[in-house]
Amino acid sequence: MNKKAILSLVTATLLVTTCGASDETKKSDAILQAMVKDMQKVAENSTQNIDVQDSKKVEKVEQKLSSIGEDKTIEAIISVSTESAGESSASKPFDYKLEPTQVAENVWCFFGAIEKPTKENAGNMANNCYIKTENSFVVMDTGPSFQFAKQAYASMKKIADLPVSHIIISHEHDDHWLGNDFYKKAFNTKLIGPDSVNTEYKEGTPTRMFNVLPKNAIEGTHIIKLDEVPKEKTSITVGGEKFDIIPMDTKAHTGDDIFVYMPERKVLFAGDLVMNGRITSGRHGSVMGQLKALAMMQKLDWKILVPGHGVITDGTAMDEASLYFKLTKERILKALDEDIDATEINEAVKLIEFKDKAMYDILNAQNIGFAYEELEMLDEDE
Ligand SMILES: [Zn+2]
Repeated sequence: MNKKAILSLVTATLLVTTCGASDETKKSDAILQAMVKDMQKVAENSTQNIDVQDSKKVEKVEQKLSSIGEDKTIEAIISVSTESAGESSASKPFDYKLEPTQVAENVWCFFGAIEKPTKENAGNMANNCYIKTENSFVVMDTGPSFQFAKQAYASMKKIADLPVSHIIISHEHDDHWLGNDFYKKAFNTKLIGPDSVNTEYKEGTPTRMFNVLPKNAIEGTHIIKLDEVPKEKTSITVGGEKFDIIPMDTKAHTGDDIFVYMPERKVLFAGDLVMNGRITSGRHGSVMGQLKALAMMQKLDWKILVPGHGVITDGTAMDEASLYFKLTKERILKALDEDIDATEINEAVKLIEFKDKAMYDILNAQNIGFAYEELEMLDEDE
């Protein structure tokens, strides 16, 4: 929060007060002073993470103050002030309205919306799954906030009153693991995932969720370290359920992806190596790595595949992803053969087959741009 903004607001408030020299104004000196004090407190306590929200509130108040104009009355000023105070002390947590869907025996998932994170969805746009074992739950990804994790667990507790013993995180994007701290605090859960979560993030890192989510959703969320960062395939058995934890040895969706296979249940948790119903985000990824990951998954005998985003979990769950990366590679290589340069590539390769998928307009052109850079290098190497 910008102290300057707050102080200018305070000044504006004082001006409004001193200019309107009616008796009514003078009588309310005490109220106004309290208001000013409050605002100063906000200015002192503010941190970078709540910047956006608070400055929006200041803007709103400023707009209203100016709209009060010459006819300002104490009631009008006070109503503006309490409205803003009410918003900033919103104590009721965001209600994610989470309902688990059973996808296999002992496996439930919370499916997020197929869209980008917004104030409205509060980051509930990635998938988070629970596997019930004999004495505990194992959890795949933990969602975008402490509050999300807390509500997901409360919902699962109604199905089985068990602690969460293990968490496996698929990759470093923060919509997938900012719930970790809830489980650590509640159950001292063992956190397993990619090293990049430990090397790239620490308490206070202003990740996307901290910037986008409403305060009553992100509040109380802390970044903590993972306990184990497997570098090669690792199998664990928890309460009779076996999990193969498989880290990618090459950049795919990110530089450091993990997918998880339950060989006995034939269930695969793909993380963001697979999405369906929407376009993937290629900004940290690699087309060649993605194709390799998809080929590895194809070799496994899964019956259910849970994508990182999207609701299709049957035998067709990875078809969209396979086609998307296959066509991306083929068409860009063809364009390179035809000497199409970087400035022309979005005209030449549009992947029109995917135009009706969610987030096509936001992500497809940039994905093609990143893929072009990658494949151009590859082409030169050959
Ligand atoms: Zn994601």
